[in-house]
Amino acid sequence: MDIPRIFNIMESAHRIHNPYTPEKLATLGAVLRLAPGAHVLDLGSGSGEMLCSWARDHGITGLGVDMSALFSEQAKRRAEELGVADRVAFIHGDAVGYVAAEKADIAACVGATWIGGGVAGTIALLTQSLKPGGIVLIGEPYWLKRPPTEEIAKSCLAGSIADFQLLPELLASFGDLGYDIVEMVLADSEGWDRYEAAKWLTMRRWLDENPGDELAGEIRARLTSEPVRYATYTREYLGWGTFALMAR
Ligand code: SAH
Repeated sequence: MDIPRIFNIMESAHRIHNPYTPEKLATLGAVLRLAPGAHVLDLGSGSGEMLCSWARDHGITGLGVDMSALFSEQAKRRAEELGVADRVAFIHGDAVGYVAAEKADIAACVGATWIGGGVAGTIALLTQSLKPGGIVLIGEPYWLKRPPTEEIAKSCLAGSIADFQLLPELLASFGDLGYDIVEMVLADSEGWDRYEAAKWLTMRRWLDENPGDELAGEIRARLTSEPVRYATYTREYLGWGTFALMAR
């Protein structure tokens, strides 16, 4: 079981698989006022940087679930590197429908809301693993400005314009679901550049080392087109943030 191999290749060198810089991730940890010993569940935990760095900085305990074998392995290594392997655990597996045995103070899905079939479904899934009064964390894209055509939305790698909302609409939708938004930390262009541009050097090095691989053609095409596509579309139209929610 794994995610499509192309993502494991493109993001093999990423520690954070979203448009956050390490500073933004640290800001999110700080603004949540995490108490030592607080337990955090993270569905789609990637290479584990959120749980590992918060365990180091705030003394939380954590459980991450991720379908990428490579990222899950990197997460375990990172926990050892940061000296928090006794406080965080990572499961390689499908998080669809995942309900944790231990209820969490914070239940997160940061950049993987397809796990619950969208934002509303993911909030409902996370709530099943949450202590009463706990915080749901959702990391999700939003439109900085609405794309004028469906073609432009697709060039942002969205399925359609309707896949995402403007920020005020996204915030209103959390309210409509019965949640207070109690914090948010938004990514900026620098973070987007780190997330996207870091893939380019990874792809170039991978191509140099794997010229005969069955994915070499696809990676070559992506490396050639991605910088201009990203600068023209994603960088102009797409925002990203993490939203902290508490049930009303
Ligand atoms: N939250 C992490 C990773 C975000 S990228 C971070 O911010 O760094 C999306 C992640 O979802 C990837 O790590 C991918 O492997 C994982 N993923 C995709 N489908 C999944 C599924 N069905 N179950 C668990 N993880 C999944």
